[in-house]
Amino acid sequence: MYPPNPPKAPSTIRPRSSLSAAKKPSNALLTLAGFCVFLFVLCAFLLGALVYVGRTIAENATTMQSLPQGSGIFIEPINQTQHVVLSTKPILQFRPLDPISTIAPESTKRNTSYQLSEEIMSTSKILKEITYRLPREIKPQRYNLRLYPNLPNKTFNGSVTITLEVLKPISFIPIHAKLINVTTESVLRLNKAGAEISAVEPSMTFAHPQYEYWITEFAKPLESGNYSILLNFNGSLTDKIVGFYQSSYFDKNRNEKRWIATSKFEPTYARQAFPCFDEPSMKAQFTIRIVRPTDGGYHALSNMEVENEEVKSDGLTEVTFAESVPMSTYLACFIVSDFDYQEKLVKGTLENAPDFNMRVYSTPAQKDKLEYALKIGSAITEYYIEYFNVPYPLNKLDMVAIPDFVSGAMENWGLVTFRETALLYDPTISSSANQQRVATVIAHELAHMWFGNLVTMKWWNDLWLNEGFASYIEYKGVHKVEPTWSMLDQFLIADFHSVMKLDATTASHPIVQTVESPSQITELFDSITYSKGASIIRMLEDLVGEEKFQKGTTNYLNNNIYGNAVTEDYINEIEALGFEFDVKLLLETWTDQMGFPVVSVVRSGNTFTLTQKRFFSNPEDYNTVQDPSTFNYHWSIPITYVTDGESEKQSTIFNYNDNQLTLTISSVSEWIKFNKNQMGYYLVNYDENMWQALITLLLTERGKLSISDRANLVFDVFTLADASQLDYNIAFQLSTYLQKERDYVPWQVGASRLNAIKSLLYYTEFYRDFTVYVRKIVTEVYETLTWEEDTDHLLNMLRVTILNTACRFGHKVALQEAATRFNAWLINPDVRPTPNLRSIVYYYGMQAVGTEEIWDQVLALFVAESDAQEKIKLMEALAAIKEPWILQRYINLAWDESIVRSQDYFSCLQYISRNPVGQSLVWDHVRENWQRLVDRFGINERTLGRLIPAITSQFSTQTKLEEMEAFFAKYPEAGAGTAARREALATVRYNIKWLEHNIAKVGNWLQENNQQIE
Ligand SMILES: [Zn+2]
Repeated sequence: MYPPNPPKAPSTIRPRSSLSAAKKPSNALLTLAGFCVFLFVLCAFLLGALVYVGRTIAENATTMQSLPQGSGIFIEPINQTQHVVLSTKPILQFRPLDPISTIAPESTKRNTSYQLSEEIMSTSKILKEITYRLPREIKPQRYNLRLYPNLPNKTFNGSVTITLEVLKPISFIPIHAKLINVTTESVLRLNKAGAEISAVEPSMTFAHPQYEYWITEFAKPLESGNYSILLNFNGSLTDKIVGFYQSSYFDKNRNEKRWIATSKFEPTYARQAFPCFDEPSMKAQFTIRIVRPTDGGYHALSNMEVENEEVKSDGLTEVTFAESVPMSTYLACFIVSDFDYQEKLVKGTLENAPDFNMRVYSTPAQKDKLEYALKIGSAITEYYIEYFNVPYPLNKLDMVAIPDFVSGAMENWGLVTFRETALLYDPTISSSANQQRVATVIAHELAHMWFGNLVTMKWWNDLWLNEGFASYIEYKGVHKVEPTWSMLDQFLIADFHSVMKLDATTASHPIVQTVESPSQITELFDSITYSKGASIIRMLEDLVGEEKFQKGTTNYLNNNIYGNAVTEDYINEIEALGFEFDVKLLLETWTDQMGFPVVSVVRSGNTFTLTQKRFFSNPEDYNTVQDPSTFNYHWSIPITYVTDGESEKQSTIFNYNDNQLTLTISSVSEWIKFNKNQMGYYLVNYDENMWQALITLLLTERGKLSISDRANLVFDVFTLADASQLDYNIAFQLSTYLQKERDYVPWQVGASRLNAIKSLLYYTEFYRDFTVYVRKIVTEVYETLTWEEDTDHLLNMLRVTILNTACRFGHKVALQEAATRFNAWLINPDVRPTPNLRSIVYYYGMQAVGTEEIWDQVLALFVAESDAQEKIKLMEALAAIKEPWILQRYINLAWDESIVRSQDYFSCLQYISRNPVGQSLVWDHVRENWQRLVDRFGINERTLGRLIPAITSQFSTQTKLEEMEAFFAKYPEAGAGTAARREALATVRYNIKWLEHNIAKVGNWLQENNQQIE
């Protein structure tokens, strides 16, 4: 899976609905509601008459969306929340009469405390045995799944036969199910050949909402052997963007809104689409049948290729897919759509490996935007086949752009799904950054076809290996197809530096973490898992060498093919290739404890003494009690260096149990640079003379250091100064070299650090001096680059960084240019600024000359825009206006899903909160509407939790900190946002301390030096 947005960009949220933004109920609906109540009473009566023992199902029936299909189905109304306007609560659910069940399932409403009925509590004999984890006594083998998404009714139903092996006697079968209504139709004992021996009668069946199961219980334990269980189920396609759900787009040719059904399951949402053993180690083979409309241009897609299509008489066609290879449930995928595609043959590459087809799908009108994804997708796949030295395991590989998608992308096996911004590329619209994101996300997901899908983690504890590996190898994949993009250097700015910021606080956590519940699992999909995981994998490769890293990876895949593995299995394969040091032990110091070290170096002649300690960005954290750690927060650190006399990298290891490391290095006369290319996940602090030597080198001969080494020095110097571990004068002195820097990656590091300081100084007397300083160091490169676009990718990326920095720091000429181009565009909106400059022109143009009239014009363009990338740029621009009352209007409008898609809602809020005028407006709005947000997005989804650190990251006063604490105390239930709240508090505490410790020093330096900098 790929996170929803590029690092540092706002995170997005799981929406509840793109359809049922239930406006005020119409008269017709109220009439229907009355009818619904009548039907409900009738059904309840019938239910009683049928002597179904059950709890009172009735709550307060209100409205209904549509009538249930067929006979034998009754209507189960559920609670409505108070705030009807734009509420996306499910309105109605259906479930068929249950031939076996003696107890009706719980209502499937969200956000309630799930209480089993007294009937179940007193009758069931196995309640104590139920936990979040499936019992090991049962192993599923095959699923025969039939699924019918009813697009007009916005519901789905289906049936599944699961054959399973009972390994040890057990008296219940727990099958994951959530937000669907399930019935057990039959349980059969089978012989070894799979033929029926006898039927087994369950004693009771019931839903266990707390642990998300459908339970089929028996009076006597099932003996060991083979069984099959047939389940029927149904559910709603609305009110969610995970599980099985509907998405829509506007078709200009047909002049109508078109609906599709699609799915997204990782980590625990397959159970929202069909009853299943929803744990990654419960691999099984799937035969999937999907029912789709025969007409209207619809087709069905799943993981495997279509084997058969049968047209039925009722306007429906049943599509049968080939049986899958053994696969985890979270990788299954079903799509019914009218999308169009482009295709290409991918070479099997290895001996006897067949060629296969890659297809890339989008809404029909956007078919032309698929070319780039197809071109690089096929090339990256061929590269991975060679790299892993394992054939691609399936017969086809599809990639699909989905209009409503909660993540960036999802690696469903053979059917990878993407957010539109992460797959579609149009050279007339997309910027270089957009293009790079498409390439990166594709490279990430395709790596999972092997690493993750073919070999899967046993349990989510080891998610870091899956995501960390893909998040690292994606850079190799993109580098292969776009070798001029400097991707291996870009790793530092996209992953490494951003995660170190979080990992340097007490709010961090170890990479390997024990999780159990779905909300704990979803919380794991954070930057520690992805970016720190990737940084550790990258350090490992640098340590063991590319060749052995690749060989070990191939062996790991081959030895665990179609199976599951733990981190240790991977490390064992690497270690088996023979090393003089303990690879496993070294790695454990990085995976089992949070944080990272700062290595301090003191020079005495040619002798260098290295010591290490845990790094905290907030100096106060050294006084806090640290969580216990096996290694007492010491690490086994791969030490590397280059010197003025030795440009070849030299290496050694600083063991965690050594107090210091002493090196005598004869090749150093002037300078030494440790941590070559910042491959090691640590900071280096030099003594002052060594820093001065490196600053001189940067100012005079920066080409002697690699791009990554320069970026590393800029990063380390500011990180250390921010933490009061280095004199701020040294950081500022070093930053003056940026005037001469012409490479993207070091400049991006510098711009990002300077921007962070700007936010901290925003309300202080030194703000003006600081902007003067930054304008001085950016002007030369600004004038060199100009506003003319390039064909060179990296120059375009650098230009965007520089123009943004110039505008952000009030460079008058730059702002004037943005305003001129913005005005020209408003006069003739069809002639847009060139793709790379567009965001800057929109944003700073709006900031400079925006009025209500102009804002309305841009809003109209935003609403009408159909390209997802362009839409984001306009959405950001709308957040740039300075009038608070217009920003407030924007905040209110953002609730309307016809204006801001739910997947983009939190990005929108974060854009507004980055505007100093909007910051407190968003903060107040979120606090005042918290319950409404919880109702819409769900407390147990990490995406809602991520909102808090996103909108509070620039707070820097005690008052704001107290407001946050009061807010958390008022709403103590954080759900999947628990860690995010800790992170938010840590950031604000850091900001407060930063001002306390640094403001005087920064102010002094600026006043003394602003005159002198040429
Ligand atoms: Zn992933």
